[in-house]
Amino acid sequence: MIDTHCHLNFPDKFPNPAATIQEATEAGVDRLIVIGCDPESSRAALELAKQFDGVYCAVGWHPTYTSNYTRESLDEIEEMLSHPKTVAIGEIGLDYHWDYSTPEQQKVALLDQLELAKRLGKPVVFHARDAYPQLIDILESRERLPYLFHCFGGTTEDAVRAMKLDAMFGVDGPVTYKNAGDLRQTLATIPADRLVLETDSPYLSPMPHRGKPNTPAYVVHVNAALAQVLGLSEAECAAQTTRNAERFFGLSR
Ligand SMILES: [Zn+2]
Repeated sequence: MIDTHCHLNFPDKFPNPAATIQEATEAGVDRLIVIGCDPESSRAALELAKQFDGVYCAVGWHPTYTSNYTRESLDEIEEMLSHPKTVAIGEIGLDYHWDYSTPEQQKVALLDQLELAKRLGKPVVFHARDAYPQLIDILESRERLPYLFHCFGGTTEDAVRAMKLDAMFGVDGPVTYKNAGDLRQTLATIPADRLVLETDSPYLSPMPHRGKPNTPAYVVHVNAALAQVLGLSEAECAAQTTRNAERFFGLSR
């Protein structure tokens, strides 16, 4: 399996990445994509990707970090995107839940990074919170790229619009939560070849680890819950979501 979204690049949360990667490998999670949130965490993500075989990275400005965004910083993001283990630009998007940055700051960074992705032909990993319709409005008005909505938490209507953009959808710990019936219903409307597994470690631990720090090994719990939603065996769900992630991120093997 592939954990397509984790933050092993947060050193205070993962002081010993080698041990975390080993633990994931033993659980059957042999590849990880480490996601940047700003230039510093993107650099750290790329360092991990260079250091470990099964680790890849995405680089970019997360919307809640964009109060520090500068256009000049995109030169470095672009340089990092030229490394073969940098498989996407992300996580970028809109987050109207938190107000660490204004909607205007978020939009400027989003549009600049979409332009960069278009110029380089790179897949895009989105973070959206309380802003799915606004983000999808923007994407519908632009030339289409390979899009992945990380930790999809939109409505069924948002999912329908995203599917028309040929987007992919990331599934995380919340699919295991008792009160997430709406999410499971929405996920059940999405074709199985559009779904990928992720943890968003150290956040959003799946059951039975909810409330404790998350780790890439726990993707097995996300897979088990998604398999149930899709009516697949765990092995089928793991194989399908792995193929999807390989296709989206251009991973071989
Ligand atoms: Zn994230």
